[in-house]
Amino acid sequence: MPAQTIKTIEDIVQDLKSKKEVHMVTVYADLRKLGKVEPITGKSAKEAWLREKNEVRLKTGTIIDEMLGGGLNVGSSMLLYGEFGSGKTEIAECMAVLCPDVVIYIDTEGSFRWSRIEQICKERGLDMEKMFDKIILYQPANWLEQMMLLETMPTPLEVGKIGLIIIDSLTKLFRGIEFAGRQELGIKQPMIREYPISLTTIAKSYGAAMIFTSQIYVKPAANPFLPDWANECVVGGASLQHQASYVVHLRRGQGIARIARLIDADDQPLAEKPFVITAAGVMDLPDTEKAADLIKKAEEYEAKQRTFLDEKKKHGKKTVPEVSEPAQSPAEIEQPAQSPAENSLLGEEENAS
Ligand code: ATP
Ligand code: MG
Repeated sequence: MPAQTIKTIEDIVQDLKSKKEVHMVTVYADLRKLGKVEPITGKSAKEAWLREKNEVRLKTGTIIDEMLGGGLNVGSSMLLYGEFGSGKTEIAECMAVLCPDVVIYIDTEGSFRWSRIEQICKERGLDMEKMFDKIILYQPANWLEQMMLLETMPTPLEVGKIGLIIIDSLTKLFRGIEFAGRQELGIKQPMIREYPISLTTIAKSYGAAMIFTSQIYVKPAANPFLPDWANECVVGGASLQHQASYVVHLRRGQGIARIARLIDADDQPLAEKPFVITAAGVMDLPDTEKAADLIKKAEEYEAKQRTFLDEKKKHGKKTVPEVSEPAQSPAEIEQPAQSPAENSLLGEEENAS
């Protein structure tokens, strides 16, 4: 294909303005024609299964990995969403530090700090020099630059094996004044929706995993009988949740404690795990009797929730009102009790660090 027929970001914006359908997949096809990504070849089922079994799983180094079946696997994507300070960036940075291969880190918020990476490395006895080699940082200043990255992403041929692509956050740059008002939703929503699809497609072709983050907003018609976090929705809409292999909601506990809740997963049961943020990044709760007890209680709570859901399903009762967000579990709607982890968790910063 001659170069002039390849869609540029300006063409895409033009298409959007003229309300034409835009398919990022054509961008991907163009990238392939340019030799920027490897073509995908068909694999036998057994070959794929064996490959999956032997895959390196990318880790947070915490109990959260258990929720993901041992870590984030190649080709999968994880959406992290939650309130400010809930640990989205911290998890992303720790996964970048622990990833054995090259990491493409797209920081749209300006919250990535090399000094934080240095601190995490120092605390964990890791070599900071290696981080400079393996983390390729992009800090787009606006949504147009963010979109353009889809076309200019480096390939494994250029930078070596890419293990992880992170975008923190996916939605921030689409919250500017140019998109203010509902009338602009029709323009920005397709771009937000298509972005993780395109990025996952690229990640898969690179043999990498993908993490994207988003903020939250509180439902306008919040249910006052639920804990605050149960009324939190992901900025970017429920369609973002459908696109992730793992959807993890994060919330703050007491002090340095945070709670990760697996809201949806391709291949894992829903679960909830507490963790802490320390100088060394995201860590497990300190190895104390109290912490073990809390984890046990959280597991029992989740098991109870699952039994509750199974029972409901068996009896064919409708548990979610038509209007509710699909991401919110029926258990949260009908059993608004706080999890034990949240009730009693950890103000004890000195125990954890
Ligand atoms: P936002 O929506 O604002 O981007 P976030 O979910 O990305 O929030 P993070 O940046 O991951 O939040 O986490 C911030 C939390 O991490 C804060 O509570 C902060 O106190 C804690 N934190 C950051 N650096 C350190 C550190 N060096 N030592 C201990 N805790 C830290
Ligand atoms: Mg952040």
